[in-house]
Amino acid sequence: MDTSTNAFTVDVEDWYQVSDLEAVVRFAAWDRYESRVAQNTERVLALLDEARVRGTFFVLTWNAERHPDVVRRIAAAGHEIACHGYAHRLVYDQTPEAFRDDVSRAKRTLEDLIGTAVLGYRAPSLSITPRSAWALDVLLDCGFRYDSSVIPVEDSVCGLPGAPRFPHVIRERDGRRLVEFPITTARVFGRNLPLGGGGYLRVLPYRYMAWGMRRVNRRDHQPAVVYIHPWEVDPGQPRMQTAGKRGFSTHYIGLAQTEGRLRRLLRDFRFAPCADVLRERRVLAA
Ligand SMILES: [Zn+2]
Repeated sequence: MDTSTNAFTVDVEDWYQVSDLEAVVRFAAWDRYESRVAQNTERVLALLDEARVRGTFFVLTWNAERHPDVVRRIAAAGHEIACHGYAHRLVYDQTPEAFRDDVSRAKRTLEDLIGTAVLGYRAPSLSITPRSAWALDVLLDCGFRYDSSVIPVEDSVCGLPGAPRFPHVIRERDGRRLVEFPITTARVFGRNLPLGGGGYLRVLPYRYMAWGMRRVNRRDHQPAVVYIHPWEVDPGQPRMQTAGKRGFSTHYIGLAQTEGRLRRLLRDFRFAPCADVLRERRVLAA
């Protein structure tokens, strides 16, 4: 096992709440779909418990309002609770005012539930891009201490090309700081290859993510951040037709093998919650 500590993260959303299904599943109709988030989160919690790993759960608060017991269960198991916003709207599809309302309401809801401060935020579909970079100032204003939404690649949905690849202070004002924990990429021949998401674990061979993480840990001496979704360990979820956000969708690929691969990942690498990794690296104050 490698000795670097990486961040293990879970974006707590249900199968029908993902951006790839946005065109066929409208927000106003969310209540009509079969809720599987509680049982799937439970499966992720069991995997983490078995591996004795603690992580960060970025909770969509539409779910938190309907399943407060799930949020309390996650926190009681020693994991960090962080914020994934309320309605899973892409950041650049919102005005700065609407975004501020969404994240401040979401932060408050979670804090009321668990009784401790929520430090971290992750944007739906990592939608912090050059045209929504204002969101970082809003997060700083709302009292977030770190963000983990920036991925330094070129992409049609997400990505801030040229952004630093590792934890750094991304906004600072009036003695307050917002730290960025960027989504992991491996740098090869001058290009950043994304690898931190559960999609890569499902669609590509296990060795791709393992290779990339080792490269980041050993060559860059930096932590990686991995993110998965509870629906990714659920092969039994309902099937919908979707063209996705990029003209194709990987949503249903490899669902049956994610759990086994996750088990292996949790055994092969060291993980901790984002806030712990950032403190250990001294980017985030204690
Ligand atoms: Zn999400």
